[in-house]
Amino acid sequence: MIQKMVESMSQLQEEKGRLQEQLMALQKKLTLRENDQQAVSTQLQAQVENLKEKLIGQVQEVNRLRSELGGTDLEKHRDLLMVENERLRQDMKRCEAELQELRARPPPCPDCEHSKESAQLREKLAQLQVETEENKGRLAELDLEVQQKTNRLAEVELRLKDSLAEKAEEEERLSRRLRDSQETIATLKAQPQPIKYIIKTVEVDSSKTKQALCETQARNQYLQEQVGMQRQVLKEMEQQLQNAQQTTAQLKAQIMMYESELERAHGQMLEEMQTMEEDKNRAIEEAFARAQVEMKAVHENLAGVRTNLLTLQPALRTLTNDYNGLKRQVRDFPLLLQEALRSARAEIGQAIEEVNSTNRELLRKYRRELQLRKKCHNELVRLKGNIRVIGRVRPITKEDGDGPEASNAVTFDSDDDAVIHLLHKGKPVSFELDKVFPPHATQQDVFQEVQALITSCIDGYNVCIFAYGQTGAGKTYTMEGTIENPGINQRALQLLFSEVQEKASDWEYTITVSVAEIYNEALRDLLGKEPQEKLEIKLCPDGSGQLYVPGLTEFKVQSVEDINRVFEFGHTNRTTEFTNLNEHSSRSHALLIVTVRGTDYSTGLRTTGKLNLVDLAGSERVGKSGAEGSRLREAQYINKSLSALGDVISALRSRQGHVPFRNSKLTYLLQDSLSGDSKTLMLVQVSPVEKNTSETLCSLKFAERVRSVELGPGSRRAELMSWSSQEHLEFDGGSVQTPSSARSYSSSSTGAPISRSSSIRRKLQTSGKTKPVPV
Ligand code: ADP
Ligand code: MG
Repeated sequence: MIQKMVESMSQLQEEKGRLQEQLMALQKKLTLRENDQQAVSTQLQAQVENLKEKLIGQVQEVNRLRSELGGTDLEKHRDLLMVENERLRQDMKRCEAELQELRARPPPCPDCEHSKESAQLREKLAQLQVETEENKGRLAELDLEVQQKTNRLAEVELRLKDSLAEKAEEEERLSRRLRDSQETIATLKAQPQPIKYIIKTVEVDSSKTKQALCETQARNQYLQEQVGMQRQVLKEMEQQLQNAQQTTAQLKAQIMMYESELERAHGQMLEEMQTMEEDKNRAIEEAFARAQVEMKAVHENLAGVRTNLLTLQPALRTLTNDYNGLKRQVRDFPLLLQEALRSARAEIGQAIEEVNSTNRELLRKYRRELQLRKKCHNELVRLKGNIRVIGRVRPITKEDGDGPEASNAVTFDSDDDAVIHLLHKGKPVSFELDKVFPPHATQQDVFQEVQALITSCIDGYNVCIFAYGQTGAGKTYTMEGTIENPGINQRALQLLFSEVQEKASDWEYTITVSVAEIYNEALRDLLGKEPQEKLEIKLCPDGSGQLYVPGLTEFKVQSVEDINRVFEFGHTNRTTEFTNLNEHSSRSHALLIVTVRGTDYSTGLRTTGKLNLVDLAGSERVGKSGAEGSRLREAQYINKSLSALGDVISALRSRQGHVPFRNSKLTYLLQDSLSGDSKTLMLVQVSPVEKNTSETLCSLKFAERVRSVELGPGSRRAELMSWSSQEHLEFDGGSVQTPSSARSYSSSSTGAPISRSSSIRRKLQTSGKTKPVPV
């Protein structure tokens, strides 16, 4: 056993020794393998480094090639060519524009201009051809360059291919070696099984061996990892290579594209050059043809002009002669002009002198005419008679009431403003006065008629204006008027003011007014301090025969305000005196006496004119109604004074030697204003209504009789007789007779009155009341 044991021990020892030897051998093998692997790994790493470097180099080469090929010269060349192309295009356009211009512009002188232009064009063409040549040369150079570049590119490609092949080989080699190593590793891995077993058995003896094995395994692991990493790197490198190949392919395609573009540009350029050339040739041909045509026309013109010239030469000769003649005339013209001017001036001066003398003559004539006119006016007034009779018919008013009594009984003649027709008790009667104002006549119309009379008192004439008519016929309205529509009184004074103002440079005038009334033959001063005082009319003590009224107040007036104040004052005095003013005023005569005194500054000549504006008492026949007492007395006085006025006017119109002024206070007071050169106007107021026709008839008869007295010496008395008898007839019913008039008329009855308007005046035949005028 022990033997056995010793034997087994020795066997084991032997085994152990063998194993140890084996281990040693394995360890050696391992170390060798490790060294081998290390060497392979370093070699592989070196190869990898090398490949990396190569790759970098190739990438750089590719970059360089890329920059060389596209980024730099080729692109620049292409750009240059494009710019060149553009410039050529511009040139062509310019040429075309010039050609266009040439075509559009009609050459003023076709010969030289065209030849010049065609020479220029030819020069330009030559230049362009040279440029084209140059361009062609440059194009060839560029082509050459492109060729070189392409060759170089091919070379580079070749090199690239070589290096790629090398790389592939290298790769192949590497992968082969890697495969070998892997196989070796695999075989090595496959081997350890018996070793493991041995190790296990030896483990008990040698932990160190075990550790060494472990380390070897770890190392093996690490190496495997390294191989994996290398594989990875190899894969990446393959990828990179692929990328590089792609890039190369792209670059190639780009190069192809550039080449085709270059080709196209070249073709285009050639084409454009061709068309330009064609255009140019065409333009030149056209220009030449046009120039030839124009030349022909010019030649023709020239021939025409030559013939014209030949015909014009004689005309030119005559024109030259004319011109010389005109020249002579122009030379002489200033002298002639001066002469003409001198004579014209003399003529104008003479004409002016003549005109001046004519003017002077005209002025003289005008002044003479003015004086003549004035004379004529006075003569007219004289012929019309210093006594004029005007009728005024008032409108129908509310006071007239209504019904048939208030109906209109007065009509007018549309052709003759001096005629009035009255329908009295159904019978028409017509009267002719100097003028008749219809109801619609205005205050201004009436004033217009009397204003000549009024202004004459500035020249020193005495004027009397009477308003005659029955109560309510419009006497006061005509004389005084209303505030809004003043009558003759106020208008007369205003007119006097303005007339005096106009003459103020030569004359000094003072205008004074007195207001008086005559009631029951008593004269009273309405502007005096004691209006009830009766005034006397006296002869001037200077023996001039003039009358004056001592104590009659005179107010100096200068404005309308003054007049209004005076009128108001007079009115107030009249009102305080009598309770029933209306009645009283119709029973008394109201007088406004305006005296105009003037002094001529230069001659010292003095004039005095008196304007008497009288609103007479009512002419109605009071006696008829059987009035008594004071009423009867009033009526008698009124009748007396109105008859006296009629007597005086009749006497004056018939130019009697004796005028019975003294028969009433009124005529006596107005004596100097009724006689001589004095002018009198009788305004006969009538009412138009039916109920007043009797009174209207009386008033119109009075008016007509006053007016119709014929101014013949033999007829005076007879006229007066007729008037008085008529008056008597009118008043017979009332038994009121004017003693004075009766006296004076009855005492004188010689001759016969001659009626001026017998045709229309006497239409009262049917009334039976009128007596025919005694012959
Ligand atoms: P007389 O003074 O004759 O008695 P009036 O002048 O007092 O008469 O007139 C009587 C009335 O008739 C007054 O109311 C007056 O206003 C009016 N009248 C008179 N004439 C006219 C006329 N032309 N236009 C308008 N009204 C008039
Ligand atoms: Mg009155």
